[in-house]
Amino acid sequence: MELMAGKRGLIMGLANDKSIAWGIARALHGAGAELAFSYQGEQLKKRVDPLAAQVGSQLVIPCDVAEDDSIDALFERLKSEWGGLDFVVHAIGFSDKNELRGRYVDTSRANFRLTMDISAYSFTAVMQRAAPMMKEGGAALTLTYYGAEKVMPHYNVMGVAKAALEASVRYLAEDLGRDGIRVNAISAGTIKTLAASGIGDFRYIMKWNEYNSPLRRNVTQDEVGRAALFLLSELGSGVTGEVLHVDAGYHVVGMKAIDAPDI
Ligand code: NAD
Repeated sequence: MELMAGKRGLIMGLANDKSIAWGIARALHGAGAELAFSYQGEQLKKRVDPLAAQVGSQLVIPCDVAEDDSIDALFERLKSEWGGLDFVVHAIGFSDKNELRGRYVDTSRANFRLTMDISAYSFTAVMQRAAPMMKEGGAALTLTYYGAEKVMPHYNVMGVAKAALEASVRYLAEDLGRDGIRVNAISAGTIKTLAASGIGDFRYIMKWNEYNSPLRRNVTQDEVGRAALFLLSELGSGVTGEVLHVDAGYHVVGMKAIDAPDI
């Protein structure tokens, strides 16, 4: 039987076919889930519509997570279309790219607020609306990065926001666990996406991961997708409050590999 047959879920953060959200959508669709998508801004609609159609979805709804009204409208629409909800994927992050290079110490107050709001708080705002729709329990997933745990070059304020996001996963898991709702994160390795291209020296960072992770390569969108399927399906029924690293093992490494070539 298909793992996600009869399950309905929302995927937030699809921008194009390179998005991590797309790898997750494909894995869930392959397991029989019914999907809805939210996207930010009219410009993205023309990219998201055809992708959604590829995975059998016509439910493509605008949502800017910086606006409570916009999140409310998204969940009102979902409620009227579906009534209930089984899972939600939050694959959203944003920071001023001028501050994703150079030093963390130079972070401005305005961009600190913006980055925290879009990249950390929005997951909580989404769960406020999603949880009441998960009457028979459910599962939620967000995306984080190793820069939350250790200093990574140029990740700066985004690392601070991801640390807050990971802490939110633990608090949300406790708050919602009694209603049978599980909340987890995947800490993904470096993948070339639109958001990642805003990070200074990202090509160098990807190469470093390729040469120094235990698997000696980067992960793929599909590998993140399959881990998401595990966490969102019955396979992960005993897992909540977890940050699962899907990073070719990079997070266990203490120093440059002896055989790593110079970059
Ligand atoms: P992406 O650019 O494809 O996706 C980022 C998405 O965030 C876009 O769809 C964008 O529209 C959305 N977004 C930004 N601001 C928004 C707002 N105000 N309202 C609604 N949506 C908004 O890039 P991605 O790499 O697939 O990013 C998805 C998630 O994965 C992010 O949280 C990112 O930090 C995380 N992540 C990425 C990597 C990587 O190497 N690419 C590694 C670990 C974690």
